[in-house]
Amino acid sequence: MPTYRAPTKDMQFVLHDVLKIAEAGIPGYEELDRDTTEAILDEAAKLAENVLAPLNPVGDEEGCTLENGVVRTPKGFKEAFDQVRDGGWTALDCDPEYGGQGLPYLIQTAVGEMFSSANMAFNMYQGLTHGAYNAIHAHGSDAQKRMYLPKMVTCEWGGTMNLTEPHCGTDLGLIRTKAVPNGDGSYAISGQKIWISAGEHDMCDNIIHLVLAKLPDAPEGVKGISLFIVPKFMVNEDGSLGDRNSLSCGGLEKKMGIHGNATCVMNYDGATGFLVGEPHKGMRAMFTMMNEARLGVGLQGYAQGAVAYQNALGFAQDRLQGRDVTGVAAPDKPADPIIVHPDVRRNLMDQKALVEGARAFTFWGASLIDRSHRTGDAEAEGLISLMTPVIKGFLTDKGFETTVLAQQTLGGSGFTREWGLEQFVRDARITMIYEGTNGVQSLDLVGRKLGQDGGKHVMAFFEMVKSFVAETKGQDAEFDAQFLEPLKAASKDLQAAGMYFMSEGMKNPNNALSGSYDFMHLFGQVCMGLMWARMALAAKAALAEGAGDAAFYETKLATGRYYMARHLPVTGTHLARIRSGGEPVMALDAANF
Ligand SMILES: Cc1cc2nc3c(=O)[nH]c(=O)nc-3n(C[C@H](O)[C@H](O)[C@H](O)COP(=O)(O)OP(=O)(O)OC[C@H]3O[C@@H](n4cnc5c(N)ncnc54)[C@H](O)[C@@H]3O)c2cc1C
Repeated sequence: MPTYRAPTKDMQFVLHDVLKIAEAGIPGYEELDRDTTEAILDEAAKLAENVLAPLNPVGDEEGCTLENGVVRTPKGFKEAFDQVRDGGWTALDCDPEYGGQGLPYLIQTAVGEMFSSANMAFNMYQGLTHGAYNAIHAHGSDAQKRMYLPKMVTCEWGGTMNLTEPHCGTDLGLIRTKAVPNGDGSYAISGQKIWISAGEHDMCDNIIHLVLAKLPDAPEGVKGISLFIVPKFMVNEDGSLGDRNSLSCGGLEKKMGIHGNATCVMNYDGATGFLVGEPHKGMRAMFTMMNEARLGVGLQGYAQGAVAYQNALGFAQDRLQGRDVTGVAAPDKPADPIIVHPDVRRNLMDQKALVEGARAFTFWGASLIDRSHRTGDAEAEGLISLMTPVIKGFLTDKGFETTVLAQQTLGGSGFTREWGLEQFVRDARITMIYEGTNGVQSLDLVGRKLGQDGGKHVMAFFEMVKSFVAETKGQDAEFDAQFLEPLKAASKDLQAAGMYFMSEGMKNPNNALSGSYDFMHLFGQVCMGLMWARMALAAKAALAEGAGDAAFYETKLATGRYYMARHLPVTGTHLARIRSGGEPVMALDAANF
């Protein structure tokens, strides 16, 4: 059975040595000294390690069941959900006005990584509720907020997002679900939604569905979509639960992974719904939810990589096969542990470097969200908006890749169920698909985000990398050569790719869109390069100050050097592919495939 140990020390390193949060000048961060974050992370770690992780294989084996319209979650989920709720973990970064703790999103992110690593399917019930909470908080009326948010903050009531229909997922302009005014301010919602995560289950007293639907006078396409609150049970004025609404779960999907999360067909049969925000502006409201949700999915991706890596490492230290080619390592044993072999090392180093880089990248993204929300900093907002598709697309690709690398470390044991690695692979796979496929993330990046506000945000990104290099270089020639030069080169490749899109994409959009996926990865690599350079700098500083546990900081430096030497050069390949343009991609007639 796999195990999980929360990487609190690594998290503390990112929070305090790299991001230096207590001095970041973000309201709320000044209270987050090392002791405070340690106390929060340690408590969350206990829950993740001792309660959620042991339920992960149970949820996978047992899955959810549907009987007479009732969805039952796997054994132990309900009790664990009570513990999460009772511990206040669902309310961390929620608004104190509605019962939240008002902590920064960054803290929610760190805790979210632990809970996701421990049990991704389980943590989705809370994650979706949080997303729905965000959308109502940002776009709901005061009355709606008062009615729904307090119970969603505590997760006594769950939340969902209902976008997808049988004939449309990416192209939501095609949705058919209808909302007809009832004449009393409410609407009758009719239609079918599919693949709705946590659409029906037994862990909450009520479920607040957010549903995209079209009003009778709706304009065509995405400009005609409105957002509705459709509760499973109607809520009375005094907050008590009323009649059951006319909606039901019509089926549960059988699927590759996240078996512990109920993926539901949801039927709305004239269900009573309430408009959120303005008519026809539903996509905008939903995007509030989707932006944070996309970051959350990026996190899910690398969090699966993180737990997979831990288990691969444990296996590699124990499994005896072959001998170290440079000299016997364990003479008292019949063979050496496989961690002595360079190819196994490569495999483990890839996993470690990807996971730790991804963690820094995601935490940095979360700190940008806090900066933009808590200070109104437009540059931080622009930057995180630009990087959201990169965090989602790149980190879920890399997270999945990491689970496969970890599986490979175990050989045959990675393929069999006993060790649990195959579950991590299966669970991680969905992160590349939902919340908009990774291909669609890359289109968002190149088609929308790159040129947003006249390209101001991407220019700010380049400027930030340039300033970091300028401020850092010249103090240590070795550091410059190992970290700053590769970062500069990778950033140059990214700029060249942007230039190519500007000149050639204008001539033919296929030239840009054929390279969008490479661009998303190129961008992700530069961000990871920047993160590793910043982590290495922080580790160097800690060593210079004589901080205890030198091995920890030396390890960061060595892992960073590995990333810069072995991963970052791939930016050249991405650039070459981008520059080959649309012609090789589009050369075949559709009929000739
Ligand atoms: C387990 C699970 C849970 C889910 N949870 C939810 C949920 O809670 N709520 C919800 O609303 N939905 C949910 N979904 C749906 C999910 O968000 C969609 O599956 C996803 O957005 C992709 O839509 P699609 O499957 O219809 O693929 P399609 O839109 O049919 O796309 C098929 C392929 O074509 C590509 N493609 C489509 N359009 C373009 C384009 N213009 N340019 C380039 N490529 C394109 C896509 O990248 C993809 O590879 C879930 C799905 C699953 C499997």
